[in-house]
Amino acid sequence: MRLPVLMFDFGNVIGFFDYMLIFGRFGARLGLSADEFRTLVEAKGMSRLLAEFERGALAPEEFSRRIQAEVGLNIPFEEFAADWEDIFELNTSVGELVADLKRQGYTLVLGSNTNGIHAPFFRRQFRETLDHFDHLVYSHEARFLKPDRGFFDACVEAAGVSAGSCVFIDDLEANVEGARAAGLQGVVYRGDTSKLIEDLRAIGVELLGDVR
Ligand SMILES: [Mg+2]
Repeated sequence: MRLPVLMFDFGNVIGFFDYMLIFGRFGARLGLSADEFRTLVEAKGMSRLLAEFERGALAPEEFSRRIQAEVGLNIPFEEFAADWEDIFELNTSVGELVADLKRQGYTLVLGSNTNGIHAPFFRRQFRETLDHFDHLVYSHEARFLKPDRGFFDACVEAAGVSAGSCVFIDDLEANVEGARAAGLQGVVYRGDTSKLIEDLRAIGVELLGDVR
């Protein structure tokens, strides 16, 4: 197996996302602006419920029921899911990098804090890019959220190599610190894909493609 195993965060690395789209859709159902709905749902404990959802402690239907009860919505789960799921846009330069790494024979792992509504949706939406990944590790299935140690242990276990043979790429400093604490190498992606390619080359990753 060609080493290191390269592990990518999803949100703001492989795909951009915008929760304001969700707030706008739910807000419109209640006669509120996206900003007004965000203020409401945050005051009602969305962060805590979302963390439980993404840790796999709440099933999608239960998450929908709890959020709706908090904000005064009453729509079928299917409609909730349709409003909730569609918030992603591919980061095309990282998509090209992923394809290039696969051509070079690297093992690729996706490691995402996500949930049972978003993950199946973006898996389909970005099939072409995500098909390059050998393993998909989702927080709601692993039952650990980054930067918890257990999440990175699950990624390493999926890869089937030692932690020291893995590189975790994430846009959040705290997650990269968590990866390092679990014995992996870590690279922070700050939105500059040329810089990411430079950082990967600096740790010995070979890429044939043009530096973008
Ligand atoms: Mg991210």
